Order: sequence, then structure tokens, then C-alpha cells
Amino acid sequence: MVQPLVIHEVAEARQWVRDAQSAGERVGVVPTMGALHAGHLSLVTAAKRTCDRVVTTIFVNPTQFGPHEDLEKYPRTWDRDLEHLSAAKVDVVFAPSTTTMYPRGDGATSVLPSRVAKRWEGEFRPEHFGGVATIVLKLFQIVPANAAFFGEKDFQQCRVISDMVEDLNLPIELEFVPIRRDDDGLALSSRNAYLSDEERHRALSLSQALRDAAASVAAGERDAGTIQRSVRRTLENAPVDRIDYIAVCAADTLEPVDKLTGNEMVLIAAHVGKTRLIDNTQLRF
Ligand code: AMP
Repeated sequence: MVQPLVIHEVAEARQWVRDAQSAGERVGVVPTMGALHAGHLSLVTAAKRTCDRVVTTIFVNPTQFGPHEDLEKYPRTWDRDLEHLSAAKVDVVFAPSTTTMYPRGDGATSVLPSRVAKRWEGEFRPEHFGGVATIVLKLFQIVPANAAFFGEKDFQQCRVISDMVEDLNLPIELEFVPIRRDDDGLALSSRNAYLSDEERHRALSLSQALRDAAASVAAGERDAGTIQRSVRRTLENAPVDRIDYIAVCAADTLEPVDKLTGNEMVLIAAHVGKTRLIDNTQLRF
């Protein structure tokens, strides 16, 4: 199997992309924090569908972790990641060091994300989306691809990035890829590795609650409060150990709604054991 070219330095990454584009090739970029699973690989598949060349970035970005979060113990599985990316025929892996990305350390320039970052994740992880927007803008500058691919698993993140691209006039196309789930319904996540069997069983209540919510809307339910209470009951019955939020909100603004109009989302964040899980579904009709 041909190994992807591994690049650690900024200038080399940028030059590789420029050379490919000069040769008339369309380049896609898939930003990740490694610990790759089939969810990440479905982004690579989407990128390969529309791009001649695919760059995957692997960087565990410290600025998007809060002070008491799991930065230190975040899974790092470099050898296996490289095997996955070889099998997926990725062309380049850009894997910079922390000092390469943040030579100035604290006090460096950063991005203030749009209003869409304020609620939900933003309330529980106040620095998170600023860190995400900043690293994504940096990666777009270093890997100036034609298109970038993100997962709807992190739905609010997709909205933050799409506002940033529009507001800052960034010359890149975005594609958002549906959530990839295990057979039992659990949304794939690098953090699922933290779950014991017993916790994983309780974690299934997130996807179960979302399926029930979508089914109730298909059956005619239009009241956001009713849907939210029913999701809460399912999570509490599992039980999960703590619910951060259950949002029934507009898919574009992420503002909460009272009545559904056909383009809403349910967003969930909940803790099972020491693991924080997020999941979401569309409520379309
Ligand atoms: P992460 O490594 O967790 O930062 O994720 C990198 C990218 O993969 C993000 O755009 C995520 O939204 C996406 N991703 C993570 N899990 C999934 C999943 N289960 N299905 C689809 N995309 C995912």
C-alpha cells in the first residue's frame, strides 16, 4: 500500500497544495484530531468523490480544550491512523507540532466566532469555538484547499465554520457529511474509546432519544417542548449521569423554537461516566 506523504512543516504543506493546484488538480482537506474511525473516513470518502487530491490534517488542538477537559488523555493512535489513511488512499497527512501551530503561545491572534457559537456548546465550553475557528482558519491558510469537509456530528461546529467562511470571505467550499453511526446507533466518536461496556449501553439513549424525536415529528408532533421533554425522559431513564443541554432549535440560527416549521434540529450533550457525548438529528418535514 502506498503511504501518504507525511508533512510536519507549514511551508512544505502550502507548497504541496500550490503545486497540485498548478497542475490543475482540485484539492480537498479533511481536518481531524486523529484517533480516526469510520466517521472520519466517510469525510475522506466524500472528499475523494469531488477532489483529485486529499489532505488530512491531524492536530490535537489545545486551544479548543477547556482547562478541565481531556486534552492530556485525548487518544493518540498515530500508527493506526496512518494505516487507515493509507487504505483510504489519502495523498498527504499534515501533522504539525503544537509549537509549529502556536509559536507565540498564549497571546496569539485569534478568531471571534459568530453569534451561532454562543449557545449550547458555547455555554458549557466557552473557549471552545474560538479555538476551533482559529485553528480551522490557520489550517485553511496552510493547506489552501479548494474544498474542506466536516462532519454533521459536530453540527454547531459546522455552523460556526460556515459563518466564518462567509464573514471572512474565505476562498474555500465547504461540504458537511452526515453522521456515521455504529450498528447499535451510537454516533462514532474518538471519545467512545473512554466508555466501559456498561457506559456504552447507557450512551445508546442519546441516539435512541433522537430516533424517537424524529419518529414523533414524522407522526405529526410539532411542539418543541413536548419533544424536548420526551428526549429528557429517555436520557434520564438510561440513566445518563448529567445532561448539559437538549436543544430543539432552528437549523440555521440554532435559536430555540416553540413550534416546528420543518427545518429544526435536536442537539444533545450529556455525560456518561467521565465521558461527554454529543449527538444530533434533523427534524424535517
Ligand atoms: P475530530 O477528530 O473529532 O475533531 O473530528 C474531525 C472531523 O470528523 C469533524 O469534522 C467531525 O465532525 C467529523 N466526525 C467525527 N465523528 C463523526 C461521525 N461519527 N460521523 C461523521 N463525521 C464525524
